[in-house]
Amino acid sequence: MTARIIDGKAIAAELRTRVADEVARVKRDHALTPGLAVVLVGHDPASEVYVRSKHTQTQAAGMASFEHKLPEDVSQADLLALIARLNRDPLVHGILVQLPLPKSLHTETIINAIDPAKDVDGLHPNNAGRLAGGLAALSPCTPLGCIILTKSVYASLEGMNAIVIGRSNLVGRPLVQLLLNENATVTIAHSRSRDLPKLCAQADLVYAAVGRPEMVRGDWLKPGATVIDVGINRIAVPGGKPKLVGDVAFQEALNVAGAITPVPGGVGQMTVACLLVNTLRAACAIHGLPAPAV
Ligand code: NDP
Repeated sequence: MTARIIDGKAIAAELRTRVADEVARVKRDHALTPGLAVVLVGHDPASEVYVRSKHTQTQAAGMASFEHKLPEDVSQADLLALIARLNRDPLVHGILVQLPLPKSLHTETIINAIDPAKDVDGLHPNNAGRLAGGLAALSPCTPLGCIILTKSVYASLEGMNAIVIGRSNLVGRPLVQLLLNENATVTIAHSRSRDLPKLCAQADLVYAAVGRPEMVRGDWLKPGATVIDVGINRIAVPGGKPKLVGDVAFQEALNVAGAITPVPGGVGQMTVACLLVNTLRAACAIHGLPAPAV
């Protein structure tokens, strides 16, 4: 058996087109231009790449993009003052503070200062709590992308056995909640879980969000399972350029899984597309408009 490759690049492109169509509609019908503000502190190279990509894709979708680049040694008070300004700014509907922040800043305090209505990263405790309570919420983008990718394979996830390996606030925990909302039966695994291969063997849907290169082996999987690999790991190649691999041993999994996301070209592509979705949703909610059709 060779698994179907879930084409995150194509699915993300299609989602971005749908967002752009909806943005054009709210501009035309309601004179509303959704706006996203991204705050970058310091010069982390990976963060700079992500922020550039967010800026380009936001503008390509017809939204307003506001970039705020702050020096590495910015004070917590100055960063909080910027967030307070963005919270009040009527042109800004989404606020994203690029993580990780320098160690001198207290991440939780910064995230908690963002207006939950503009928290397009879905990390504010109000949104995390609402999601956990089964209420409408802005949800973190990567888990949202995972659900969309899974639904490119199955229209309904109802009653399916899912395992989420990883329980971070950014990926694992919100993904569990989104799967519950889809009526899947969810096992949550983490570094203290016992016998991961046995837990995986029961899962129709396997989500790996661990940060350990190729940890999930092909022989852990139930034949025909759908595998969504969130991991992005840069590994050294002797004499060559570093290579990106996921948390799943892709070549092994290909022979067992029914469908699988590649790394790169899978989940990573969806994260920014879902950020655009969240910004559009936030703009509509703030202006009392019905939720957009994306
Ligand atoms: P974290 O480091 O915050 O969380 C990792 C999780 O994996 C923890 O819950 C940890 O358990 C668990 N874990 C660690 N080791 C093991 C193990 N041996 N067995 C089982 N579970 C284990 O990472 P993130 O959630 O932020 O990210 C996970 C991966 O996803 C990373 O590779 C990251 O780069 C990638 N990522 C990709 C994104 C994308 O857009 N594609 C976006 C965000 C992340 P415990 O809680 O017990 O410590």
